[in-house]
Amino acid sequence: MEMRQMPRIGETVSRLGMGLMRLPTNDGKIHYEEAEAMIDRLIEAGVTYYDTAFMYHGGESETFAKKALIGRHKRDSFTIATKMPLGEAEKMGAQAIFDKQQEKLGTDVIDFYLMHGINGGSIDHMNRIGADEVARKMKEAGRIRYIGFSYHGAADDLPKVLDAYDWDFCQLQLNYFDWYGGDGEKLYNDVTSRKIALVVMEPVRGGGLARCHPDILKVFSDADPNLSPASWAMRWCGSLPGIDVVLSGMSDMSQVEDNVRHFSPFVPLTDDGQEVVKRAMDAFKALPLVPCTECNYCAKCPQSIPIPRIFGGRNDIVRFGSSWFMTNYRNWIKPENQISACTACGTCEAACPQGINIIERLKEIEKTL
Ligand code: SF4
Ligand code: SF4
Repeated sequence: MEMRQMPRIGETVSRLGMGLMRLPTNDGKIHYEEAEAMIDRLIEAGVTYYDTAFMYHGGESETFAKKALIGRHKRDSFTIATKMPLGEAEKMGAQAIFDKQQEKLGTDVIDFYLMHGINGGSIDHMNRIGADEVARKMKEAGRIRYIGFSYHGAADDLPKVLDAYDWDFCQLQLNYFDWYGGDGEKLYNDVTSRKIALVVMEPVRGGGLARCHPDILKVFSDADPNLSPASWAMRWCGSLPGIDVVLSGMSDMSQVEDNVRHFSPFVPLTDDGQEVVKRAMDAFKALPLVPCTECNYCAKCPQSIPIPRIFGGRNDIVRFGSSWFMTNYRNWIKPENQISACTACGTCEAACPQGINIIERLKEIEKTL
C-alpha cells in the first residue's frame, strides 16, 4: 500500500482511505458480514485511514466502526476520523456530542476530528456553539490528535475558513469533473499553498464518475478495456501531488479490490492518461444538457419553483445516471413549488442570461417524472 507522510503534522497514512458512508446494506441497515469482510481486506492490504461521521448511515456508521474496526483490529494498525455535526451540537451541546461519539466509537482517542460540512458562514456558527473550544480542549486532554474540517462551501469562502484557525488538516471534495468543470483547482491550490494535510472526498463524485453516460464510458474503455471508470477517477486524484489521502466510500468487495490494486503501489497517470481524462471531460461537455449555470437570476419565480435545482437534477441523470432527482423530487420540493405550479408567467425566461426556454424545458422534465 502506498503510504504518505502528511505535511506539518508528520502522521504517516495510507494514500487510499476508506469512507464509511456507503457501506453495503440490507433492508436499510449495514450488512455487517459483508462490510466486515471489506474492512478485514483493507486492513490486510495496509489501508490505515478510516473516515466516519456522526450522521453517516443514520448514525450507525460510528457504531459499525467500533465493532468492525476498533473491536477487531489492533488499534495501532489504523487511524479513525470522525466529524462534529454542528446542527446536532447546537441542540445537544458540543461536549455532549463529542462524549457520545467517543462512546459510540469505543476509543479513548480520535485521531482525526473534523468540523463537519463547513462553509463560509459556519465559522461563526462553530464559535457560537463552542464547538471549536471543545475540540481544542479535547486535543489538549489527548482525546483528539488532529483537528480539521470538511468543506462543502463556495471556493471564494475557503481562504477565510483556512485562515480562521491553525488547522491540522482539511477534507475537500475533489475529482476531475469538478477540477475541469468547476472550482476544484482553486480549492486545491488554496489548501496546498498553506501546506496543510489534504484528504480528498468524493473522488468518484458519489459514484457518478463510475456509472456516467455511455459516451464517457467509451472514452475509458477505448483507452484500456481492463480499467474501470472509477479507477481513472481515483488515479487522477492520487496523481495530484498535494493530496495525502484519497477517500473512497467503497460499497462492495469488487470496489475494494479495484482500489487496493491501484494503490499497491500507486502509479501516477502518465501524460497519455491525463489526456484520456481530458477527453472524457470533453465528452461530458458535449452531452445534451440544459445549459443552466445556476446563476439563480430566475429566483424571482412567483411560485418559488427551484428552477436551477430541477435543471441540475435533470442534468445529473444525463451525466451520471444519477437517480436522486427522480427519487426525491416529490419529497424535497413542496407541492406548491413543483413544476405543476408554473403559470407560464415568463418572469424566469426574461431574467435568464442563458436564454433557456425554461417553461418548455420544465414541462418536458415534468413528463419524465
Ligand atoms: S414561468 Fe413558471 S417557472 Fe417561470 S417564473 Fe413564471 S411560474 Fe415561475
Ligand atoms: S436564470 Fe437561467 S441559467 Fe440562471 S439559474 Fe435560472 S435557468 Fe439557470
